[in-house]
Amino acid sequence: MSSKRKITVAYGDGIGPEIMKATINILDAAGAQLEYNVVEIGEQVYLKGISSGMEPSTFESLRETKVFLKSPITTPQGGGFKSLNVTTRKSFGLYANVRPCKAFSPFVKTHFPKTDLVIIRENEEDLYAGIEHRQTDEVYQCLKIISQPGSEKIIRYAFEYAKKYGRKKVTCMTKDNIMKLADGLFHKTFDEIAKEYPNIQTDHKIIDIGTALIADRPEVFDVIVTLNLYGDIISDVAAQVTGSVGLGGSANVGEEVAMFEAIHGSAPDIAGMDIANPSGLLNGAIMMLVHIGQPEIAEKISNAWMKTLEDGIHTGDIYQEGLSSKKVGTQEFAQAVIERLGQLPATMIPASFDKDEVTPMDVKLRPRTKAKKELTGIDVFIDWDQDGRDPNVIGERLRQANAKGLQLHLITNRGVKVFPEGMRETFCTDHWRCRFKTDDGSTVTHSQVLDLLQQIEGLGFDFIKTEHLYTFDGVRGYSLAQGE
Ligand code: NAD
Repeated sequence: MSSKRKITVAYGDGIGPEIMKATINILDAAGAQLEYNVVEIGEQVYLKGISSGMEPSTFESLRETKVFLKSPITTPQGGGFKSLNVTTRKSFGLYANVRPCKAFSPFVKTHFPKTDLVIIRENEEDLYAGIEHRQTDEVYQCLKIISQPGSEKIIRYAFEYAKKYGRKKVTCMTKDNIMKLADGLFHKTFDEIAKEYPNIQTDHKIIDIGTALIADRPEVFDVIVTLNLYGDIISDVAAQVTGSVGLGGSANVGEEVAMFEAIHGSAPDIAGMDIANPSGLLNGAIMMLVHIGQPEIAEKISNAWMKTLEDGIHTGDIYQEGLSSKKVGTQEFAQAVIERLGQLPATMIPASFDKDEVTPMDVKLRPRTKAKKELTGIDVFIDWDQDGRDPNVIGERLRQANAKGLQLHLITNRGVKVFPEGMRETFCTDHWRCRFKTDDGSTVTHSQVLDLLQQIEGLGFDFIKTEHLYTFDGVRGYSLAQGE
């Protein structure tokens, strides 16, 4: 029986085939024990009318091999095509996006030569859940979904990653000064999990100043763990400031399946010219080798690759007069790496990967006890565009509704209280959030809610959605309005 590890490989679009060929040549020359199951994804599959960009046979292959080495693809413009990356991440539960950002100074130009950070981005939740609605003529909504197990999984992954790779600090980034419940859950979970890793320093930064610091002082960061959208943005900032956009690889890791790729796209502008830098995909492949338990091969390739950079053998994107010794194409670069297999870099620190463990990390979730949930009120959202949008008119009319004590408490517009006693200057859209509560704080039944909605309809209002106001073990599970 073959001792080779079967992996799924996609050559992708644009420069994809060239950089994959270069990468596989290096993998084979280094003695990686791999068997390739090649699948077709991307543009040609989309154009066949398959909106996910992947044939059913690709899903089957991934289910079998559980490891995907993927070149970038071109997403055709318009036409309802789904992002293949988002489909793969969600279908296979690839919850952790791991993106190392390292400076290779002085061999690749950067203002921050000491940068060596890793961004661990939550990959399945947040605004990327893709739940969007248009609710009124003027107002659109995108739901931000943050779950407790989703947060715990990615945060544990970040700490396990730091432990495994000898990293000293994990920084959490959120915007919990504004999103106190959703981002607050992520931050709170981070603080709880951090206690289990006393040897690792921890830190929290609000995402805005955190991003500014990455742009200005990326060297101060080690591991960063954050939510999906923030992670997407800071990954590109970090890659850009370290000068390594064309060099970075990334891993999307789940409990069973993992996908490895370059961080850049398919670069159609230089496709077929043999000038693309294959380093991003190669660095993704190096992460893959560690993941499947071939860390010695990963080290060998990483060291030969660094030696190639040190020797000034550079593709056009990183070539610099005076620093580089030779400008090479994609395949010649790969050949230079192959010739250096077995050598170590002279200036940069040689690669060293853990030989005992493989990813995915141990991310077992803590047992939890379910909280006692009680319904204490309801927010009814109303589409209303009459009477000059005077909040007092809608407020006084809704005061007539009373479902066994469930009555109007306040009205907000875009989160700001406008009734009772709103500010005359507040701008109002056609989207009104009307909060109903019981005066004595007693719990609310579903039949009270249904009765209330019927009364609201009877008063001539168009209700467009409801949100229930729960407490969990007595703790408020909803935000207060500005001015409440
Ligand atoms: P891009 O990353 O493909 O290209 C941006 C610029 O960087 C171009 O000038 C390109 O020539 C250059 N570049 C990129 N990779 C390079 C390399 N390895 N060597 C040398 N130069 C390189 O971004 P884009 O132009 O915005 O996107 C092109 C296509 O790629 C789009 O269809 C997009 O949807 C897709 N894309 C795919 C992925 C993926 O599959 N993971 C990621 C991002 C973008």
